[in-house]
Amino acid sequence: MRNNMADKNKRPLGLYLHFPFCVRKCRYCDFLSFPSDEAGREIYLERLKEEIKARGAVYQDYNIETLFIGGGTPSLMTGQQLTELLDTVRVSFHVSPVGEWTMECNPGTTDAETLRIYRNAGINRLSFGLQSMNDEELKYLGRIHTAKQFAENYQAARRVGFENINIDLMSALPGQTTASWLDTLNKAAAFEPEHLSAYSLIIEEETPFWDLYGDDRSGEADVDGIIADSGGGQQGKAAILTLPDEDSERQMYHLTKRILAEKGYERYEISNYARKGFECRHNLIYWQRKDYLGLGLGASSMVGNRRFSNVSDMTSYMHDWSYCQEEILDRKAQIEETMFLGLRCTAGVSDRMFTKKFGQSMMDIYGDIIRKYISEGFLVFHPSEGRLAFSEAGTDVSNWILSDFLL
Ligand code: SF4
Repeated sequence: MRNNMADKNKRPLGLYLHFPFCVRKCRYCDFLSFPSDEAGREIYLERLKEEIKARGAVYQDYNIETLFIGGGTPSLMTGQQLTELLDTVRVSFHVSPVGEWTMECNPGTTDAETLRIYRNAGINRLSFGLQSMNDEELKYLGRIHTAKQFAENYQAARRVGFENINIDLMSALPGQTTASWLDTLNKAAAFEPEHLSAYSLIIEEETPFWDLYGDDRSGEADVDGIIADSGGGQQGKAAILTLPDEDSERQMYHLTKRILAEKGYERYEISNYARKGFECRHNLIYWQRKDYLGLGLGASSMVGNRRFSNVSDMTSYMHDWSYCQEEILDRKAQIEETMFLGLRCTAGVSDRMFTKKFGQSMMDIYGDIIRKYISEGFLVFHPSEGRLAFSEAGTDVSNWILSDFLL
């Protein structure tokens, strides 16, 4: 096995592995994921290991600082499958001895014994896709689990020694009230995870929720098969997906910030909260535009100014995983991305880093826009640290402001 002592001469790299299988598709989900049988998962993992070995040989000048297994539902992997996968990573790449190795885990798909094997295999951070503590909401979303199953899996994870756990939550759900969201927040925080992500539901095209929502919210969409197994007793009726209005959504966002701050979580990105020192190192790589390599079906990578993605069609991937679509980012695109991604984080964008990278300061390029939004109270420049960041008020209108950073 490779000697994995830290090597300061190697460049840092985040590694993402995609596992595209789920028990069934949730009604709001447009991720690259689908149901499968055990045989299909096994064949895919064999192909993924081939890709890991081959790509590892190309990236010998890099050191894997973080690893993230996402999906899909990676916790459908058996302990042995996961162990072999991570052994393949260790044999193929140089890996940091103090790396953050995260695995997404869906409640209702695992147990204490399997979690123990995951941990022994090298996973040191779990990310639970809980979404809601309300069973009716979970059912409507098409999730396979209940709040109780989540609690059992979470407690099992603690028992087997996981000390870094994230819980994913989702607000602005159909029919959700502020009181119900508050209840989910309080109950989730009571588990005392090290990290919480709280995103608003977005209705994505080509999902059952999109059909229910309709272009004009008329509710005339065909809902056959969607309501049928929702347990709502509405089979055969046209249904309208009633989402909380914009004011309620904002209220939920502010409530999230306030409640989680009271409970000792610091918001370090628009939708992410952590106890000090438990910010997700892997996601920070994306937001800070550092190098990452994505392996597996449809996974994307960015190394230097090169962005490339694997094919997202399973037959093509199984036939030839090595085919990538590639794009070279010009200076303008890199600058825009630096601002878009960096400003998502409360730490903002460092002018020193920006100048080092682009040979000009942020003020040279965006002086008028930055001055305007600082004077309006939406952006703040922290002179001692040389960072530009959104103010609290700016975070609320961040999308609108960011559009001005397009060159
Ligand atoms: S578990 Fe996650 S990836 Fe799978 S269908 Fe549901 S939302 Fe999508």
